[in-house]
Amino acid sequence: MLDRDEIDALFPSDLPDVDHWERHFPKRDLADGVQVMRFCPSPTGAMHLGGIYVAMLDQAIARQSGGVYIIRIEDTDQEREVEGAAGDFDRILGWFGLTADEFDGQGDYGPYTQSQRADIYMSFARDLMRRGKAYPCFATKDELTAMAAEQRAMKVQPGYYGRWAPWRDAADDLVRARLEAGEPYVVRLRSPGEGERRVTFTDIIRGEITANDNQNDVVLLKSSASALRLPTYHFAHLIDDHLMRATIVLRGEEWISSVPVHLQLLEANGFERIPYAHVAPLMKQQGSARRKLSKRKDPEASAEFYIEAGYPRQAILSFLRGLANSRLSYLTVAESLTEPVHLEEAGMAGPLVDLAKLDHVASEWIALMDSEDVLNEVLIWAGRYDPELAAAVEPDRGLAVRALDIERKGVENPRKDLGKWSDFRTYYGYFFNPLFDLVSDQADERLGGIAPEAVRKLCAAYLDRYVQAPDGDAWFEHLRAVSETCGFAPTVRAYKDAPDQFVGSVREASQIIRVALTGTKRSPGLHLVTDVLGEPEVRRRIGALLG
Ligand code: GLU
Repeated sequence: MLDRDEIDALFPSDLPDVDHWERHFPKRDLADGVQVMRFCPSPTGAMHLGGIYVAMLDQAIARQSGGVYIIRIEDTDQEREVEGAAGDFDRILGWFGLTADEFDGQGDYGPYTQSQRADIYMSFARDLMRRGKAYPCFATKDELTAMAAEQRAMKVQPGYYGRWAPWRDAADDLVRARLEAGEPYVVRLRSPGEGERRVTFTDIIRGEITANDNQNDVVLLKSSASALRLPTYHFAHLIDDHLMRATIVLRGEEWISSVPVHLQLLEANGFERIPYAHVAPLMKQQGSARRKLSKRKDPEASAEFYIEAGYPRQAILSFLRGLANSRLSYLTVAESLTEPVHLEEAGMAGPLVDLAKLDHVASEWIALMDSEDVLNEVLIWAGRYDPELAAAVEPDRGLAVRALDIERKGVENPRKDLGKWSDFRTYYGYFFNPLFDLVSDQADERLGGIAPEAVRKLCAAYLDRYVQAPDGDAWFEHLRAVSETCGFAPTVRAYKDAPDQFVGSVREASQIIRVALTGTKRSPGLHLVTDVLGEPEVRRRIGALLG
């Protein structure tokens, strides 16, 4: 083993000792049960819904215990880093209301971006080397690839161990010669693991887990050839969660198999164990099978999808909380957001992302909102994603509120037409002149195939005798009377009994008026629609069919 001076010469001379960092990031003074959670996205691509799910859990567990929720940017894989990704994370997490309590710019345990913590990792790597628990390895990429091929051919366990660990016990002179020649190296853990040994740990979600011990001398610090000596995920996780004084490591289940490595690193450093909770991945139903929600295949896998569609954040958060704890999916949105989430209930099977279910949750939530609030949200959304809608609605907020109030304000069972802000255009767009195309062709197929002359006659009579009816029944009675004078049967029955004697029935007549006023075959009660549009606009729209 190299002596202490030789080891120290591999690092900056002013690198602090590990004790410095221990003092710099003192243990937090936490009452029993208070949790320090950390969400650690890697800026290697767009934020996945699974990331929002984990961040939601982190925030929930922290908040409900009176603790702290940290965001740490894990940018040690600089080759895969995507420019702008970290900035996008801020925006997206902010949108979901998942901004952290501690992050770069706020908090005493930073920096919270790993590339800015290189000194810290080096201090700990140097300490392990001084104590013989880590060593430099000069194996080149090609040598490692050849070794892996040989291991495959021999059908032995892949990895850097035993006879496959050429630098683990290399002669000091050999190491010195390479160092003197300035050859790049990585720092590896001297794994104490034995092949046959089993290790046991407790996962908050999965209970007790027993696995083979690690025997791989994993890399701790990446190549000395790069200007910035960055750590691997394994090393950074151990150091950061220790120094940030996290109390639960909540992360994706893909990391379970690394826990034996992490436990060895923990022991080598003399850190206390932090409980793990490995979350199952979000799933998608495909035919009769379930598979992982895939960034590549499924648009709904990206967090941005929900922002663009304009789902209310409360609905998504409530939906995600219901995925974690099905108990919460039976509550109202408001209740589900305040009831505590329990990691123990999260389950080992990946929960299903069912957009129909989300739409349902969202429409229940929007149905209970004030029309003014709905309008504000629609306009915020439209400002960014549907400028044409924003431009049409903004100048006439009063009209928008009156339209939204239809079958919503003061009724026991408000309409649940909107599941997301982008639905506003479909259900309310026709109220706004710039978004409404007058129906002026009497043969328009939406009018139900009634003879054009009859359509014209009905519209003329309707306008002639126009009244604003006080309720749905009155409206219909009035239309029945008007349409009868134009050759429409007063009931569907009467029409069926003698189709040759009529041009259609009152049902077709009302459909003609509906299409003329709304452009659609389904709308709320027409007495309400006409009330909101006002008589001049009603006359303009129906009048378009007189031409
Ligand atoms: N950066 C890791 C990832 O994106 C985070 C794992 C962890 O939370 O420790 O998978």
